[in-house]
Amino acid sequence: MSEPEFSLTTRYAVMTEEAIDRKAIEEAGEILKRGGLVAFPTETVYGLGGDGLNPSSSKKIYAAKGRPSDNPLIIHIWRLDDLPVIAADIPESAWKLAETFWPGPLTMIFNKTEIVPHETTGGLDTVAVRFPSNKIAQELIRAGGGFIAAPSANRSGRPSPTLAKYCREDLDGRVDMIIDGGQVGIGLESTIIDLTGDHPEILRPGYITEEMLRQVLGDVRTDTALIDANSDVRPKAPGMKYRHYAPKGELTVVEGDAEAVVRRIDELVREQRAAGKRTGVICTDETLAGYDADVIRSTGKRTDEASAARELFRILREFDDEEVDVIYSESFSGKGIGQAIMNRLMKAAGQKIIRIEK
Ligand code: AMP
Ligand code: MG
Repeated sequence: MSEPEFSLTTRYAVMTEEAIDRKAIEEAGEILKRGGLVAFPTETVYGLGGDGLNPSSSKKIYAAKGRPSDNPLIIHIWRLDDLPVIAADIPESAWKLAETFWPGPLTMIFNKTEIVPHETTGGLDTVAVRFPSNKIAQELIRAGGGFIAAPSANRSGRPSPTLAKYCREDLDGRVDMIIDGGQVGIGLESTIIDLTGDHPEILRPGYITEEMLRQVLGDVRTDTALIDANSDVRPKAPGMKYRHYAPKGELTVVEGDAEAVVRRIDELVREQRAAGKRTGVICTDETLAGYDADVIRSTGKRTDEASAARELFRILREFDDEEVDVIYSESFSGKGIGQAIMNRLMKAAGQKIIRIEK
């Protein structure tokens, strides 16, 4: 498929949640209502917004991202009262989750109502809905008509943007406007939970963990295709089957006892350098001094997994800017938010991992 040509003049606005530029928001809202596209900050990552009830807007989103059109979009709302407009058969569990986690980084899947076009849901009869907590996002959704379809604001396959400059890098000339609201707080995309089956099921791990969801609903399962990287089962969230977040350099995760990991990564780096490759390492503050690579990036303190979540996608993009050929990353706990970090990291690595046995 040949790439369509894009020649939009992208407008830029800068604001913070504390000082929202009302005029720019109304202008962005008009763009959305007319069927245009606006990239904007949320608490998770930057979103690429279009009117979720307008089939032509959704088509434009797929085109701008270069995203396969069977990969459904999440519709963002700015008040709970609007949920029944797009979601049918809303179960009691959804209201409980909404009370605890909305507005916030949780996406719920429902049967869709007639009003939601199949162009937005990738042909599915279900719809993904999120009510973000970021105030800029809320104001934009309101101004844009209330139902904004928004995948992450990156070109398909690249790490999700956590800063507006990465939206510019990927989408300048492809969207009508980009709103710069600074660095996002969470840094990983929302947790997705499917409420249309017999049991609530997590389709994508995120900041809201399985344990947190269990405390509200009791019985919560995780799509097994997500846990077992080698499974042949197709993940239920269509997007999870695509190669994602990938830096241009070849990334490998190294897992095991901390000291052994540092030693192994150092060996690997030496070999690669001897072969003339430019090397990169993703580590934590505790191990930073132990490495000798061309580009070394720490995600913060080892115990601070919120920091790792916030920094991961930025670090992956920085390796691209630094034109690194091979990257080695320490691994994360796999518990709590560590599960979401490992899910993204393993996808970025194309599932390549070296496990050091004791
Ligand atoms: P993004 O907005 O780029 O973070 O990606 C949206 C994610 O939500 C993708 O992985 C989709 O596959 C998933 N998703 C959206 N709508 C649905 C749906 N109706 N059923 C299952 N997964 C969905
Ligand atoms: Mg995405």
